[in-house]
Parts: sequence; structure tokens; C-alpha cells
Amino acid sequence: MTTTAKPSKLIKGATGDWEIVVGMEIHAQITSHSKLFSSASTSFGGDQNSHVTLVDAAMPGMLPVINEECVKQAIRTGLGLKAKINHRSVFDRKNYFYPDLPQGYQISQFKDPIVGEGEVIVDVSASEQIIVGIERLHLEQDAGKSLHDQSPTESFVDLNRSGVALMEIVSRPDIRSAEEARAYVTKLRTILRYLGTCDGNMEEGSLRADVNVSVRRPGEPLGTRCEIKNVNSIRFIGQAVDVEARRQIAIIEDGGKIDQETRLFDPGKGETRSMRSKEEAHDYRYFPDPDLLPLEFDQAFVDELAKGLPELPDDKRSRFIADYGLPAYDAGVLVMERESADYFEAVARGRDAKLAANWVINELFGRLNKEGKTIAASPVSSQQLGAIVELISAGTISGKIAKDLFEIVWSEGGDPHAIVEQRGMKQVTDTGAIEKAVDEIIAANPEKVEQAKAKPTMLGWFVGQVMKQTGGKANPEAVNTLLKQKLGI
Ligand code: MN
Repeated sequence: MTTTAKPSKLIKGATGDWEIVVGMEIHAQITSHSKLFSSASTSFGGDQNSHVTLVDAAMPGMLPVINEECVKQAIRTGLGLKAKINHRSVFDRKNYFYPDLPQGYQISQFKDPIVGEGEVIVDVSASEQIIVGIERLHLEQDAGKSLHDQSPTESFVDLNRSGVALMEIVSRPDIRSAEEARAYVTKLRTILRYLGTCDGNMEEGSLRADVNVSVRRPGEPLGTRCEIKNVNSIRFIGQAVDVEARRQIAIIEDGGKIDQETRLFDPGKGETRSMRSKEEAHDYRYFPDPDLLPLEFDQAFVDELAKGLPELPDDKRSRFIADYGLPAYDAGVLVMERESADYFEAVARGRDAKLAANWVINELFGRLNKEGKTIAASPVSSQQLGAIVELISAGTISGKIAKDLFEIVWSEGGDPHAIVEQRGMKQVTDTGAIEKAVDEIIAANPEKVEQAKAKPTMLGWFVGQVMKQTGGKANPEAVNTLLKQKLGI
């Protein structure tokens, strides 16, 4: 791309400004019951080598058979990335020494991938969106896992993962900062989870990023890139971009040049280090796998899958803004996870949607984060939170009491309406009762009354006292009005 560099994204070197250029290859494990070319299970955490068929072990004469569900998942993902779906694609052998893939080659797609160009709208911040181009998505096999720490003299191999279906999603070098890199992966993961095509679980290795980083002077052609392999958390992706860019800038400013190579990010040391010099595509001697016919399907097959797609996050966010009148930021936060969006809609339906959004984002998400819980494990159901929102809207309880009520429901459960009745939590709107409390506070504090007349901001102190006296149940508006009258301010 030849767009003008955004000044806010540039980083300062000793000799001037530099622009970071990042492109990413994401390996996303397809959600499926069985592997790409065999019937072995894909479930995580099984006993070593318990999910291995003769195909996965590459026994002579075994033939791969394509898993139709994996093909459908790749097409669904392509549709979710607004990408071109190729009706004909080809599986190739990528020849390489993989100690944990006994075939001695990986079945991948090279010249003719199943999905072509697409794009992702990335939310960098509340006020900034960028578009990252997708170059391609292809299907390929995952490798197994070598275990070097079980014995001092031997290495073992676990082939459970060998042959599991991956989508390799290749972006264009459209990313210009660590922040954008993190936001891109976050958005891509959200889309995959909505589609149900990859669980996006980075701790279990379901989503891994190869991060290509280069630097250049603003406006100059692309610099030489280094690929940082298999970064497995969004935070590390951001750190890896930053430290790698700084390393390259230091070398160039010192008069050196960047060697194209594959590097590893060490989160403990906060540095990248060389793994191997970068190989070129021709080193792999790609050729069409003679065991597999080209993969062909028609547009009707694609249309059928398109019909079954869920509402995706960008559309959902637009709908939340239009239908519920939410600010873009709130809508964006709520659609990050499909479960959160569903929860919000259950709370908001037929109620004050802005109030519902505030309660879901501030109280519920805040509490869930504090306890390290997901929304699926929330002790407060959407029906319960909906009832709390209703009680506030009706003026039955104040916002402050609602927080106490939320705590009770969180730890003890129960029907919020019944709790309010039983525990006498209703807001006092009876002006007689409030007036009594106001009179008592004024009578007990003559010197403060004098101060308040000179300095009306003292009103807050009186409001606090009245609320204290009424156990926080007095209607704050009524308290304010009465106090102003009686204090004559
Ligand atoms: Mn790959």
C-alpha cells in the first residue's frame, strides 16, 4: 500500500521517524469432530497418541479422504471475511522435515487456495477503524508435538494433533503498529467465534500468529521483513511487534542491514531471537498431492452455507446503535463476544436499553473480570439483571440500592423483585418521610447551614447526610429539591 503514513503511528529513532509494517499469517484450528483427512478425534487433552488413525501415522498405502465439514467451515470463514470463494482449489504437498508429522510433508494449498481476497474491519480504538486486507485462506494439516522433557535420553512424539485441520489466514501488510496488530487478531478471533469455525483459544494453541515485521522511512518502499513464529497470545503479539521493530531500527541506524529470517519471541526476556534463515516457497518443492483430486463445488453449495451464517459482529453493532440508540463504543464492547451480545439483548428487550447497556458493561463485566469468570458462568442471569433494570426504571429502587441488590443476587441468587420487598429496599419517595430526615439534619447542623448559604456546593454534604439517615433509600431528586428549598439556595 502506498498510503501516507499516519504521524501518530510513527516511532522515533535516533536519526528520525520510522514506520512499522506488519502482516500476519494466522493458523486457526477448525472446529470439527474429526481431522482434515481422517476420522480421528480432534478433542483437546486426550491421552498421548489416542487420537491417531493409520492415515495420521502415515502408514504406507493409507489414503487421505477430505472431511466435508472442514471444507464447509473454511467456506463459512471466507464468507465471514467478505472474501472470494474459489470453486476449485488444489491440495499440494509441502515437503519439509517435520519430526512430528510422519508423512514427511504437509498437505496444504499453495497456488489455488479455497478462499481468495477479503477484508476485516478492525476497531483500533473507540474512534478509529482500519481495514486490513486478507490475501487468502487455505486449508492445511497441523503437525503433532515432540516431547523432549519426558526422558533425559529420548524424545517422544504425540500425534494427537497431527492431521487436525487448520485454516491459514494471510493478511496484507496493512498493519502499522503493535496496537493495530493486537486489534486485528482480536477482531479476527471475534469473527471466527461468531462463525463457530474456530474456538479462538490461544492457550490451547487453536489460534497462533506468525507475525511479519519490517520497518521503513515514511513513504519509502517496504523494508526486509522478519517473521516471528507462533506467537500465542494477543499481548505477546503486541510486544513482539514493538521489540522486533526497535531491533530492526537499531540495526539500520547503525549502518547494518536486516537479514530475512524466522525468529522466535521470548516473552520472559522481552526479545526476539533468530531461529533459522528464511526459506523461500521453492525450497518446499510444492506439487499437487496425487492422492487427492482438486476440490470442486458449485455456487449453490456456497449459497446454502451463506444462508446459515449468523449475524456477524459488524452488522450486530450497527443494529445495536440503530435499534437501541447505543453509543458506538458501548455497542462495540457488547458485540465482542456473541454470548455477551445475546445476554445484553435479553436484558434490554422491552426495557431501557441504555440503562441495560450500562449495567451489563460496568457492573456485570466489571464483576466477571474481577472474579475471572466468563459470561456463561455469570451467577446473575439475564432475567435477574433485567429485573434489576426494571426496578431502577420504575423508580422503585435508586441506582445505589441497585448495586447492593446486584451484590445480593450475585452471591445469594433469588428474584430481585421479591428481595426488594422482603428486605425493605424500596426507594422512599414519600416526601413526608424525606422531609423529616431533611429537617433533622438541618436542625442538627446550624453552622453548616450558614456555610451552605455562602457556598451552595455544600449541598452535596447535606444530600450525603440525608441519604445516610434514610439508609440510601431516599429518592435523590426529592432530597435535592427539598434541601434547596429549606436551605434557600
Ligand atoms: Mn501454514
